[in-house]
Amino acid sequence: MKDNFGRRINYLRVSVTDFCNLRCRYCMPEEGVIQKPHHEILSLEEIFEIIKCSTELGIDKIRITGGEPLVRKGIISLVEKISQLEEIKDLAITTNGVLLEKYAHDLKKAGLKRVNISLDTLNEVKYKEITRGGNLNNVIKGIEAANEVNLTPIKINTVLIGGFNDDEIVKFANLTMDYNIHVRFIELMPIGHASKWAEEKFLSNNIVLKKLPNLIPLEIERGVPAKYYKLPNAKGKIGLINPISNHFCTTCNRVRLTADGKIKPCLHSDKEIDIKTVIRNDKTKLKETLRRAILGKPAKHHINENGYKPIERDMFKIGG
Ligand code: SAM
Ligand code: SF4
Repeated sequence: MKDNFGRRINYLRVSVTDFCNLRCRYCMPEEGVIQKPHHEILSLEEIFEIIKCSTELGIDKIRITGGEPLVRKGIISLVEKISQLEEIKDLAITTNGVLLEKYAHDLKKAGLKRVNISLDTLNEVKYKEITRGGNLNNVIKGIEAANEVNLTPIKINTVLIGGFNDDEIVKFANLTMDYNIHVRFIELMPIGHASKWAEEKFLSNNIVLKKLPNLIPLEIERGVPAKYYKLPNAKGKIGLINPISNHFCTTCNRVRLTADGKIKPCLHSDKEIDIKTVIRNDKTKLKETLRRAILGKPAKHHINENGYKPIERDMFKIGG
């Protein structure tokens, strides 16, 4: 369906857990999270029911995210159920890749189309530092496993962090020379507890264009926030996602479902619609609640405007 600003909303990003096996500095507090009591988190059945209902309003694209979606028990069967919904044309997962070697085959078999893998550095020591303890080798093995089972095109999401990985832009871009993958540079957003840190480390994606002057622009894809480029003779593509320096709010096509049962019409607004209470107490109002959330989508975010306050909810509790 269309929102109040004429945007067709067809994309639901679903966070299946707040829990994660990493602690990325821009996303999660150092001490990690206290696991919520079971009943505060939507069950997989409830998540599926909400997804099914959303298809009646025109949602045809689902991304499973988190926290780390692959730590949620039963994730494979959820993927399988979603993939069997006729209305769903695109089903993907965003993962840190740590458990992908273990699950790639089962995810493919369950009907998953593709994966986005988050990776901010190609250096083992730096990886450990930014994720507070992660092992780069696990992610590399995960990427290889995803490639073997054809969870493609594989997209690598790299958040640009000033003074941390700007010296690796060329190295990341060169991955696309030999492999048919999409490397997407994403601007760091001020969100939750790490918003001040993010503001200090922010780097506009223009730096990518400066470091790679031979990039060839590709045709703009509808409903896709990334602007794509290619290096001459490369097998893969390079994407720039600029939520801050050049926001894409006018073409935004998504809403989010959090693991604790809130619909977030906009990532950068604290506005949330409680859908957990609705699904538990009065299912007949489910569709209406989803419709209200879509209609409540603001025209745009207000980052960089006077008086803007970053949202309070951390990214791992929203689903990126
Ligand atoms: N754990 C999974 C992962 O890392 O891919 C899925 C959840 S994570 C919250 C989703 C994406 O959000 C990741 O690509 C992560 O890099 C990105 N992210 C988290 N905090 C961010 C921030 N403040 N600005 C930009 N991207 C962020
Ligand atoms: Fe976990 Fe993903 Fe957040 Fe990193 S970005 S802490 S992997 S949820």
